[in-house]
Amino acid sequence: TRAVAASDDVATRRAAAMGGTVAPLFYDRPLQIVSGAGAWLVAADGRRYLDAYNNVAVVGHADPVVVRRVSRQLGRLNTHSRYLHPEVVELAERIAATMPDGLDTVLFTTSGTEANELAWRLATEWTGGTGALVVHHGYHGTTRWMADLSPNEWPPGHRPAAVGTFRAPVAGGDLSAGATTAMVGAAWQDVAARGHRPALLLADSGFTSEGVHDAPPSYVQGLRDGAHAAGALYLADEVQIGYGRTGPGLWRFAQSGVVPDLVTLGKPMGAGYPIGAVVTRREVVDRFAERWEYFSTFAATPAAAAAGNAVLDVLEDRRLPEKALVTGAHLATRLRELAGATDLLGDVRAMGLVAGIDVVDRPAARQLLQALVARGALAGLTGPGGNVLKVRPPLVWDETHVDHFVDRLEHAVGDVRSRG
Ligand code: PMP
Repeated sequence: TRAVAASDDVATRRAAAMGGTVAPLFYDRPLQIVSGAGAWLVAADGRRYLDAYNNVAVVGHADPVVVRRVSRQLGRLNTHSRYLHPEVVELAERIAATMPDGLDTVLFTTSGTEANELAWRLATEWTGGTGALVVHHGYHGTTRWMADLSPNEWPPGHRPAAVGTFRAPVAGGDLSAGATTAMVGAAWQDVAARGHRPALLLADSGFTSEGVHDAPPSYVQGLRDGAHAAGALYLADEVQIGYGRTGPGLWRFAQSGVVPDLVTLGKPMGAGYPIGAVVTRREVVDRFAERWEYFSTFAATPAAAAAGNAVLDVLEDRRLPEKALVTGAHLATRLRELAGATDLLGDVRAMGLVAGIDVVDRPAARQLLQALVARGALAGLTGPGGNVLKVRPPLVWDETHVDHFVDRLEHAVGDVRSRG
């Protein structure tokens, strides 16, 4: 109980020094996590939690390969990004090698937001446009412009003139390439009517903030075709869904066969050491370079690059993306069994090791999440209605973690039901 009291004290001090509602924490009673290893986290009160949520720790918490490589680099040199460093170049080469032909140039940033911002600047230079399209409840970052490109965050009445929206690949919609291209075309007309020419269409390849949706290739083709027909570029935002989660490769967009003009990366890229990237064709960067330079102090420092290379090493050596498909199939099966046995849960959408499970309504979803945490497993909520349970664990999960998690979830369902 001393440790619990300490956490309450940290919560009070945080609210006083760091703002209250502006920066909300997870869970009714925020957790103070003090250590992690693999798929497990330990809180200040000594409780252990199975991590079913963190994708920053894509290769597991405190992975020894990552820790060693970053520590070694920190002990040698860490500085800004204006010197030659082979570790940084190696990371760019390795990322480019995972991309389809043509996506050959990598620009580093320190967050997913900055990657999308830089991609936006590249797109406006390339197209001469000022208008953007995003999905109805999309999320792309925190800067002023990325907030405008994140309808998921818009306060009531906020409606940026340069931004149009389109429908996610939700069940029941016409997801053919033709219908999707037409939908995108109509959204561009809307933006044109407000005085903006097309520059960029951005979409999270896993449609996670929409509640996790598995877009068929035809829909992704329709997005790209609708962007190109209007003279805009197509950006696959892999910040959240990328890095092997959906297997068997690293990138979700690859499953569609569509080659985007721009790909943005972040979150898992440095296992928590801040680093992000934009990947695009050389000609797009060259056009930008006719008028602009790009330099950002921390993008990528030698230690950040060491983290990036270590993450790729672990993903490759342990074949985690391939494994995510197998473990994910077991997760989907077990979740569907559970959902079929209770009216609290509905549709289960899964791709590799990410799943969205519809809960009957938002209050029930919140209760379920709290009950799950009390039962010792961490997950989150997403979706336009806030009623989709999001399961997005480190890729070190195997079938035993899946079974443990679904058992916890089953107990949590029972807890909510018995409170009824
Ligand atoms: N794009 C997507 C799809 C994201 O999920 C996020 C983060 N939730 C971002 C961009 C922004 O990344 P960051 O928080 O690193 O700025």
